Amino acid sequence: MEENRTRIEVVVRVRPILPEESRQGLINSRIQPETDKKSLVVKFPESKQQKRFKFDDVFDESSTQEELFARLKLNSLVKKVVEGFNATVFTYGPTGSGKTFTMEGYEYDKGLKPIIKENENIGLVPRTVKALFDEIKQSESQVEYTVNCTYIQIYNENIYDLLNPAQLTPNSPGLKMRWNKSDEFYVENLCIFPCFTYQEALSHFNSGLRNKIMASHNINSTSSRSHSIFSLNLEALDKEEGRIVSSRLQLVDLAGSEKTAMTGNEGLALKESIEINKALFTLRQVITTLAENNEAFVPYRNSKLTSLLKQSIGGNSYCLMIACISPIDTFFEDNHSTLNYAIQAGSISNIPVQNIDPKTKIIRELKKEIKRLKKELDQA
Ligand code: ADP
Ligand code: MG
Repeated sequence: MEENRTRIEVVVRVRPILPEESRQGLINSRIQPETDKKSLVVKFPESKQQKRFKFDDVFDESSTQEELFARLKLNSLVKKVVEGFNATVFTYGPTGSGKTFTMEGYEYDKGLKPIIKENENIGLVPRTVKALFDEIKQSESQVEYTVNCTYIQIYNENIYDLLNPAQLTPNSPGLKMRWNKSDEFYVENLCIFPCFTYQEALSHFNSGLRNKIMASHNINSTSSRSHSIFSLNLEALDKEEGRIVSSRLQLVDLAGSEKTAMTGNEGLALKESIEINKALFTLRQVITTLAENNEAFVPYRNSKLTSLLKQSIGGNSYCLMIACISPIDTFFEDNHSTLNYAIQAGSISNIPVQNIDPKTKIIRELKKEIKRLKKELDQA
């Protein structure tokens, strides 16, 4: 098992200064991506010190969505998913740092409705979904794939189904989370949509985005305070051997990680503010615990988000974390904190496991053995 250990891959993206910020004279003088594309230098003017942070990859403000997709090798990641491994991609960082731009890449109109059209700015979700379906097309002909998708939002420790508008009403209690035999949490009564093509999967993602707007009105779950997880679930049926593998790709856009969110600054009751922040608070605890000592108790169950991401962080999945940074000195503390958690996350190992159903595994091994014996017999 040991040889399959894989670190969580951690990259940093520093977004460009926006025209409005530039008009206000805001600048970045403290976080500088290096030309090696692997590190950042952070300056602490108070102490006149500087510190270098190293990551698997660093994207500066000039990097395009296309470049990001290519350098993250998401094509190889979806190959793993098609082979039966689970994988998770998530963005982490303060509000306004580019998490949603990185994942969705859609423009929003003045009413905050997404303007959904394909252009060079489309983000990692549409690109990765397309890559997954392309990979399936190229796979062996005796294997039949079925894909379905789900899309949830976690707000205030409640889970809402973004693909079920009827459930996004003001007093909705949200959906229940359950625990299954393969040591995984799952959400009960979630709408699951079969997807035969890339376009179909994407149209579900897009309708989930529109429902997010409705949810933000109905339950006040603005994207800076809620987490969303778009999942594609695959099942591969080998027509010669029976069922073989199942796997899941989770694409996660987290709530803003800034400190001010911890204080209930938007007139929220303290309890509400604590509930909203439980997920990120616990996520940071999980990251720190795993980074410091793999033997210690890991508090996954303390929040819905970390329960659902249990196998992604210190579990059996491949995982990629994209830490997003606002290039503005005003956000320095939150950026610095993001880099520190990103460094810790980068030291966490997962042990990716191919999800082959045990019966099929035995049949496969027996078939191999028969082949070997036949060969021996032929040679005798
Ligand atoms: P977050 O989801 O982290 O709160 P957003 O993705 O909404 O942040 O980004 C904040 C603003 O910055 C948006 O207007 C977005 O379009 C813009 N932005 C973010 N990243 C980039 C980028 N790489 N290039 C151009 N604009 C960006
Ligand atoms: Mg966002």
